[in-house]
Amino acid sequence: MRVLRSAIDVRAWRAHARRVGLVPTMGALHAGHASLVDRAVAECDAALASIFVNPAQFAPHEDFASYPRREADDLALLEAHGCAAAFVPAVEEMYPPGDATRVHPGPVAEPLEGAARPGHFVGVATVVTKLFAIATPDVAFFGQKDFQQLRVLQTIARDLRIGVRVVGCPTVRDPDGLALSSRNAYLSADERTGALALSRGLFRARDRWAAGERDPERLRAAVRAEIAPPAALEYVSAADPVTLRELDAPSARAVVSLAARVGSTRLIDNVLLGMGVSELT
Ligand code: AMP
Repeated sequence: MRVLRSAIDVRAWRAHARRVGLVPTMGALHAGHASLVDRAVAECDAALASIFVNPAQFAPHEDFASYPRREADDLALLEAHGCAAAFVPAVEEMYPPGDATRVHPGPVAEPLEGAARPGHFVGVATVVTKLFAIATPDVAFFGQKDFQQLRVLQTIARDLRIGVRVVGCPTVRDPDGLALSSRNAYLSADERTGALALSRGLFRARDRWAAGERDPERLRAAVRAEIAPPAALEYVSAADPVTLRELDAPSARAVVSLAARVGSTRLIDNVLLGMGVSELT
């Protein structure tokens, strides 16, 4: 596996690859990231993963400095899963001196995580647009776990006429239901047990949906009913999966999502109802 540190190196590598699948990550890789790499390997001629903890998507009070960094382990995982190359740039490579251009996504980035984390999606949109410009992938793979991020990036790729297909892949969970996340490493044993309330709540909403419930407020209530200390709900949403607009009437499809704090760790999760993530483009 090639380890590439600069945009120039990526372009030189890319010139010899045919159909490239890109998997952008912030490292501290787990089986969720590996599932995206597996898709890229299976569906493309060459898989390129990036590892970059993007300062622009963290607010000053957030966990940029403490975010887990494990480059050697991450490279070993990528190699074991058949990645052809890893792009691991320094901050100055992605944000050269004087860098000032930002990508501002539209309304799909406004509610939910966009409201809770002002500026977050400008940072995400900017860095992923740079990765698309550097690597010119044919396909890019993102997890359903960060559902709004997926929709923001699909919308940007379409609006900016970037010739990349942005594919959503199902959330990988531990056997007890907890969605895998690099931030799970922050949880104590008790907090991890408490964090199971998040997936329990979402699965309860999914069960209600399977039993025919379509009222968005009852779906939100099903989630709320499961959340108890040490988990503290920041928001629960039942929204349209394409626009992310909050539902105020029964709908044939919904994304039920939440953000919660467990101790000092902020976690997000969601379930998609009435459609599969691969149907979103
Ligand atoms: P991150 O490193 O957290 O920025 O995530 C990099 C990519 O992995 C994003 O597309 C995430 O949505 C995806 N991802 C993170 N956790 C999971 C998971 N549990 N299952 C599937 N994809 C995931």
